[in-house]
Amino acid sequence: MHQGKMKALVTYGPHDYRLEEADIPRAEEGEMIIKVEGCGICAGDLKAFKGGSVFWGDGTKPPYLEVPAIGGHEFVGHIVEIGPGIEKKETYGIADSGFQIGDRVAVEQIAPCGICRYCKEGRYHLCVPHNVYGFKNYLNGGFAQYAKLTKESLVYKIPEEMPLEKALLIEPYACSMHAIRRAKIEKDDIVVISGAGCLGLGMITAAARQKPKCLIALDLNEGRLQKAKDFGCDMAINPAKEDLESIIMELSDGYGCDVYIEATGHPASVKQGLDIIRKAGRFVEFSLFLEPVTCDWSVIGDGKELDMYGVSLSHGCFPETIRGLCSGELKSEGVVSHKFALEDYEAAFEQSGKGVGSVKVVFTYD
Ligand SMILES: [Zn+2]
Ligand SMILES: [Zn+2]
Repeated sequence: MHQGKMKALVTYGPHDYRLEEADIPRAEEGEMIIKVEGCGICAGDLKAFKGGSVFWGDGTKPPYLEVPAIGGHEFVGHIVEIGPGIEKKETYGIADSGFQIGDRVAVEQIAPCGICRYCKEGRYHLCVPHNVYGFKNYLNGGFAQYAKLTKESLVYKIPEEMPLEKALLIEPYACSMHAIRRAKIEKDDIVVISGAGCLGLGMITAAARQKPKCLIALDLNEGRLQKAKDFGCDMAINPAKEDLESIIMELSDGYGCDVYIEATGHPASVKQGLDIIRKAGRFVEFSLFLEPVTCDWSVIGDGKELDMYGVSLSHGCFPETIRGLCSGELKSEGVVSHKFALEDYEAAFEQSGKGVGSVKVVFTYD
């Protein structure tokens, strides 16, 4: 059946990725093998490719990324092999069980250890070893034609008729949904989402379902702002061209927005949020920053008594995201903007890094 070789993009070091013929993995106790249909490129994958110190270390602590590894954590596929003992899989009351050959599945990015304090509390997304697909030698990801789902992995069945463009958005949109849950949006809220890339758009469509009083998207790119409007925001503002602060103050009788969700990864967006948020507002931080952010912390306490919420990964959000994407309640039209073959990985990474004009770049396989 699936014995033999597969194409795989193997990470050896920063800018040192090699397209190789690798052995197709085999399933052991609690494991499954899937034939991968495609895999999205995440900002994290790109930062790893470019040599980001989060992944390769800064000389003081050991690197997070263990090589050689096959990258990618935004993938789906069909089960081609099931190892013994799969019925004993830990699901944290959220993932599926009872798998069969041929099932189409998505997998969470993190493979939780199951024994640390957070895993025991059910907050498996904060798992201490924090093993994410594509960054560990034993946890190869979706930049290959086949992938092994380890016994710790959280796996979800997805409908056969779900278009691949939607299926590849499950993982990023689940992270967006987690951010929206953290924001605790209410119907009288003025909600500002800063950044309308793939994740920001996922947040906009998830937030729009909750019908806040006013949902506002911010981005510097006009194409993304248009998409944000299509996805249900009431206003789409380019802060480089318009006076954001006076618009928000006018909308809110001079108080400021109730919720500010930071999803740009740019330090200026943090300061902007602290400026336009009202007292006792909810500030939600989602981004990975390339450098430390400097701002006046007294705004958080003495100035405004803010509630600060961090967001990591997609805790418990896969099922609702899969349902929302399938039903169309979560809008996704055109978010997957570029498809590449694995052979063209350099062009794919380059396109993904452009940001402007590209929303989500994916690899697809036969
Ligand atoms: Zn991702
Ligand atoms: Zn754990």
